[in-house]
Formats: sequence, structure tokens, C-alpha cells
Amino acid sequence: MSELRDLYQEVILDHNKHPRNYGALEDADRHAEGHNPLCGDEITVHVKLEGDKIADIRFEGSGCAISKASASVMTETLKGKTVEEAGALFERFHELVTGKADEDLETLGKLAVFGGVSEFPVRVKCATLSWHTTRAALNESGTKISTE
Ligand code: ZN
Repeated sequence: MSELRDLYQEVILDHNKHPRNYGALEDADRHAEGHNPLCGDEITVHVKLEGDKIADIRFEGSGCAISKASASVMTETLKGKTVEEAGALFERFHELVTGKADEDLETLGKLAVFGGVSEFPVRVKCATLSWHTTRAALNESGTKISTE
């Protein structure tokens, strides 16, 4: 189990150091800003939709390693998914980081690396900030959300 934990830790550190899909997104049609005052994490999510499919998604911002790594893995996971699939993944991710997931973690793919967050309740908001922000972007353009 500790080996698995080390691997998870490594993935999080890697995504924090080299965030994927980081930066502005030309011709994005949805944007939202998220703020986690508890930790100081700030994120802006840009989404380009094609019909109800997430054709592209990028993020910008600053924050702790968990918030950045979570946003990075999230963008990798959500690209190509439908809005509905994204919503379902958000629910499952939220269950995972709050320790309520009882299903096979393997089906969560790389998102499973954030399972350890459930042991640190104060970090849950860091891990879910990018997801809340993306949900706001998908629901409505130009929104601002706060975890508080
Ligand atoms: Zn944070």
C-alpha cells in the first residue's frame, strides 16, 4: 500500500511541476474563475465546447500542489467527454476525495491518485476547486465561484 501511495505522490508532484493543459485557450466559449480562500488557491478554467462535448479545456492560476495537480489531471480526464459525463465524473471524484467511494478505483483511472486527500479534510477543497470551477463554466459563462 505504501508503494502505491508513493506512486500517487509522484503523479501529483509531476502534475504540479509540469501541469498539463496550462494556459489560455484561444476561441474558448466558456470561462469560470474559482477561489479557495481557505488555502489561497485561484484558478481560471477555459472550455471549448462542440455541441455537448468538451472539445478542449485548459486552466490558469496559482495555488498549492494539490489544487494544481488536480486541475491538470482533470483537464486530461475531461477532454473529449460530454458535459453529462463530466458531471458524473465530478460526482465520483467528490466521493473519492471525501472518502465515500466504495467502487473499484481502477475505473477512475488517474483520478484515483487523489484518494489520499480524503485523509486530509482541509485539502478536499483544494482538490475539488478545479472541478467546481469547471462545473460553473459548463453551466453558465463568466461565473465566479468560491469554496467558502
Ligand atoms: Zn490548496
